[in-house]
Amino acid sequence: MADPDMSLPSGGYDVELFVDTPDYDLICTICQGVLRCPVRAACNHIFCKKCILQWLKRCRQQTCPCCRKPVNQSLIFVMFKLSKAIGRLKIKCKNEIRGCSDTLALSEQSGHSMSCLFELIPCPYQGCHVQLLRRDLDAHARNCEHWRQPCHMGCGTVLSHRTQTKHNCYRQLRQEYEARQTKHQAVAAALQRKLRRMQSTMVQMKRQIGLICESLEVMNDLEEVEEEEDLVEASGSGSFSSSNNNS
Ligand SMILES: [Zn+2]
Ligand SMILES: [Zn+2]
Ligand SMILES: [Zn+2]
Ligand SMILES: [Zn+2]
Ligand SMILES: [Zn+2]
Repeated sequence: MADPDMSLPSGGYDVELFVDTPDYDLICTICQGVLRCPVRAACNHIFCKKCILQWLKRCRQQTCPCCRKPVNQSLIFVMFKLSKAIGRLKIKCKNEIRGCSDTLALSEQSGHSMSCLFELIPCPYQGCHVQLLRRDLDAHARNCEHWRQPCHMGCGTVLSHRTQTKHNCYRQLRQEYEARQTKHQAVAAALQRKLRRMQSTMVQMKRQIGLICESLEVMNDLEEVEEEEDLVEASGSGSFSSSNNNS
């Protein structure tokens, strides 16, 4: 009864996708796939919403493809609970043929596609028309001639692989300069501390030398005084003898 032209990809889910063969009741008579957004007509037959709407658009009599009873388009109802139950069925990743061995709930399919390493994606760089597995993107990007990325230093220059190696980023230069300056400032501060320590040591040494000098002077003075005393003594004895001579 099903019209082969109606087996469009917009109909139900491919039966082959499911880990376990889906129950016969879950198959849409029009597309032979597993019901996608199931709706029930007044005659109680169930189809994918898209399939029955397309069918009614094409057939003049507006009848059910299963029982030929008239179908009123405004009297078909979406079966939310059944839809949710179908969403919980386990499927294989559609990229199984490319190497993905994941199984997941049907409702998680689009989420998985966004991260599946075996999903075929176009190279994200403008102008590149290569299609590749997501897992190969990094390797491809390293050689893609359309690869563009703003300089990681944030200078605003957009770099390609060719210009990246030559890029002499002023931001990087400035950062290096600033790092060197901070290092120099640290060295200067350390030297200044050392200088101050040396200065205070010198002050102490001067003070000690002064003390030593003072004590040396005192000793000299003492010696001089002693010498003078000796002289006085010596001249005293001389006068003594001359007085003796005089007498
Ligand atoms: Zn269908
Ligand atoms: Zn029917
Ligand atoms: Zn996958
Ligand atoms: Zn590319
Ligand atoms: Zn830069």
